[in-house]
Amino acid sequence: MRTLCVPVNQEGIIEAVRILKEGGLVAFPTETVYGLGGNALNEQAIEAIFEAKGRPGDNPLIAHVSGIEEAKRYGEWNDLAQSLAEAFWPGPLTLIVARKPDMPARISAGLSTLALRAPSHPAAQALIKACGFPIAAPSANRSGCPSPTTAKHVLNDMDGVIPLILDGGPSEVGLESTVLDATGEVPLILRPGAVTPEMVAMTVGECKVAESVMRQLRDDESAPSPGMRHKHYAPKARMTLVEGETGKVREALTLMAARLENAWVFALDGVMDGVEEVKVKNLGRDAKEAAHNLFYLLRQADEEGVTRIFAQALPKDGLGLAVMNRLARAAGFDIRQAEDVLQFQEKS
Ligand code: AMP
Ligand code: MG
Repeated sequence: MRTLCVPVNQEGIIEAVRILKEGGLVAFPTETVYGLGGNALNEQAIEAIFEAKGRPGDNPLIAHVSGIEEAKRYGEWNDLAQSLAEAFWPGPLTLIVARKPDMPARISAGLSTLALRAPSHPAAQALIKACGFPIAAPSANRSGCPSPTTAKHVLNDMDGVIPLILDGGPSEVGLESTVLDATGEVPLILRPGAVTPEMVAMTVGECKVAESVMRQLRDDESAPSPGMRHKHYAPKARMTLVEGETGKVREALTLMAARLENAWVFALDGVMDGVEEVKVKNLGRDAKEAAHNLFYLLRQADEEGVTRIFAQALPKDGLGLAVMNRLARAAGFDIRQAEDVLQFQEKS
């Protein structure tokens, strides 16, 4: 199959809608990352998405809808979902509610619940509205690779596998949506994203974060969100995070990276100023910029054959939690204290 990559304009949208209506797959930009879309009501299209991504069959997909009215047709709506959707839709928040029979069970990997999101990106909205059906759209990467934040990333993973990629430039947020379980009394974040626990709590009074967000699940443990079990966001390079006071982090990162050939350091703007013996990649000025840049940098490291990455750990407040969740997973939860690294160095 030939894969066409075309700009998001009227012609591109018309072609995308034609393919989606025929049950085919199209990659398109959203404000979070690029999505691999198919008709959510068509079981064959859903199957094709799992196959194109190489996605494990037990990892459910998100159904993208135009807004609250459409969401109510497929999910059992409640007051919590209503308040959160009113506050954050269209935008980077996925709501988990009970699934209605009109939505095929396959999209939820057999779970009784359904993940729903109304994206704000104009291209995504145009597609959903023109199709008239919800669009199942996981991130448009091969399973296990970092999510794509440019059309070129999608092409790298999906060339020859899907017929069309709509190119809308780099994704604004750069990390996947917040996934929030809205089936209980209290909202529970299963995957952190740009809609932060603080923002949710401001809107509905409280918000919990699944404890498994910042640790690896054991094999025998059941996952609140099946995606958390799978290896995610992994670059080819082995990755280690370093936590602690900025000066010590700088010293530790320098020490660890300087003795290796093919190593990069990821750090916030200014942290590595004056250090010349290591190759530094700037994460940006704050967590928001780090979110925007992280997957791009992980893919760049792969392209350039980097074998080792040492990254500064970020504070876990606000959007920092989402960035740290992805960083920690990319690093297989190898997180070290700068002080320990430096002490070990003194001893040896
Ligand atoms: P992606 O579409 O690649 O951003 O991944 C979707 C994420 O949402 C995965 O981590 C899924 O495990 C999670 N998800 C989708 N549906 C459900 C559901 N019904 N219950 C819990 N998590 C879900
Ligand atoms: Mg994904």
